[in-house]
Amino acid sequence: MGLTIKHIWAARNGRKFDGVANDNYFEQQEGIVTIQYPHQAIPVPEIGRYQLDVAIDDCVVCDLCAKICPVDCITIESIKAVEDIGKTSDGTTKRLHASKFFIDHAKCMYCGLCTTVCPTECIIMTSEYDVSVFDINEMDRKFSVMTEQQAVEKQLMLDKFNEERAAAKAAATKKD
Ligand code: SF4
Ligand code: SF4
Repeated sequence: MGLTIKHIWAARNGRKFDGVANDNYFEQQEGIVTIQYPHQAIPVPEIGRYQLDVAIDDCVVCDLCAKICPVDCITIESIKAVEDIGKTSDGTTKRLHASKFFIDHAKCMYCGLCTTVCPTECIIMTSEYDVSVFDINEMDRKFSVMTEQQAVEKQLMLDKFNEERAAAKAAATKKD
């Protein structure tokens, strides 16, 4: 009876939402320690490793993130740009289109290596951890904004550019 009364009394208090980084995190667990997720959520640490995000406008499609990934869960395909496609927010000139950029979060082990090699810091780990899907294939998230049709057009532009350059080179050689 004494124990029951003690718990009923303690249940007047609920858990605080100060986050696991606080020194007194475990001391906060008095009274009702469960929370009404997803309406309530405990803040995640700033250095936590959760779902990845890519600011594709700042991506130079260097492929470094895909190369360093230990589980090969980043898929990137590029097409060389023959037109001016601008710069990233840090002033790096972009020379490649990202025709494909997928990260399979079902394979990702959240090591964070991809974020450390990115020259423009456009691939980051977010505080998003509660992404639920019905189909596991939906975890292969797309970050490129290019449609298949646009990729075909860019490839045709590149092929034409290469043909014209080869023809000009051949004509110049002939002249010599
Ligand atoms: S966090 Fe690690 S496993 Fe996940 S995509 Fe980046 S390098 Fe690959
Ligand atoms: S390392 Fe960064 S810039 Fe290079 S492809 Fe990956 S996300 Fe893009």
